[in-house]
Amino acid sequence: MTENFRALIMKKIYETESMEEQTMNTKIQIIRSGRKTIALQIDKNLQITVRAPYRMTDREIFRFVEKHDLWIQKHMRKLEEKKSWEESHPVKKLSEEEIWELARQATVYIPERVAYYGEKMQIGYGRITIRNQKTRWGSCSEKGNLNFNCLLMLAPKDVIDYVVVHELCHRIEMNHSRKFWQEVQKVMPGYEKQKRWLKEHGEELINRMEEGKGISKKGDCK
Ligand SMILES: [Zn+2]
Repeated sequence: MTENFRALIMKKIYETESMEEQTMNTKIQIIRSGRKTIALQIDKNLQITVRAPYRMTDREIFRFVEKHDLWIQKHMRKLEEKKSWEESHPVKKLSEEEIWELARQATVYIPERVAYYGEKMQIGYGRITIRNQKTRWGSCSEKGNLNFNCLLMLAPKDVIDYVVVHELCHRIEMNHSRKFWQEVQKVMPGYEKQKRWLKEHGEELINRMEEGKGISKKGDCK
């Protein structure tokens, strides 16, 4: 049996961006189950949930939450910022025609960039496929076949180049080891900027596809 109840637990002080102090009541949902460990999560609606084993007392749970107070505050702030950004910038979903148009552009543009960098790096590759994906920007198979996400066409040109170089470097190193990143750096010094762009804006692009679920954390090649 899962005991599922809401408790008003703490009053917290949150600093807003303007550094004004703001007090808010934080509701924490506690879900007890047969699990062995305690876990804390905050969802995108800023709901805090603690998942705890049956045997754990309220007191122990509160102590755990208190101990992670700073973590909670930090993530609440991040999620609040993200939420307000998303609310002021509603996602415009792509129509099927628009996705096809992106794919059409990508089948012309991306192979050109692959050819350019392939020659520069003296690296061969197999087939190039453009896909409409929600989880990956690109991938490279053992045989050297390359896949690219058509949504890349919505990203800045240097970000597209970064993904191209990234996948071509997998022809040298099929992993994300230090040696792999050194190869990327050789071809594209300062690639971190483009990598960061994808991390920060990638989800926005993915969400423009219907039923966008965001980038899977397990996905290869970020
Ligand atoms: Zn990769």
